[in-house]
Amino acid sequence: MEENGEGASYDNWQEDRVDVYITGRECETIKNKQGKKIKHDAGHVLLHELIGHAILMLRKKKDTGNAIDNENKARKELPGGELRGQDKDEKGKTLPHPDNDGRGATKDNDA
Ligand SMILES: [Zn+2]
Repeated sequence: MEENGEGASYDNWQEDRVDVYITGRECETIKNKQGKKIKHDAGHVLLHELIGHAILMLRKKKDTGNAIDNENKARKELPGGELRGQDKDEKGKTLPHPDNDGRGATKDNDA
């Protein structure tokens, strides 16, 4: 969890539940669409895991198809309303971040 972010969601479909973990630490690597670092404290991490992944895993649904876009729907409602940009690789290419890949054993291990 520490390598990729400060939260994780695991679809434990065999037991019909989703396990969500957060470290309680701020994630220091989250940026807005312009590439500027933005606040992503433990509350944002939990928001991402729940709205971005876990609730959809439980309901076996997708929302936008992208967990960061799902997160941004909630971020718009928060004070400041600063939106998160998509994660990029070292070459600037957008990395996929599915909200629920629907395989039943989805593992999210990120921010
Ligand atoms: Zn995620």
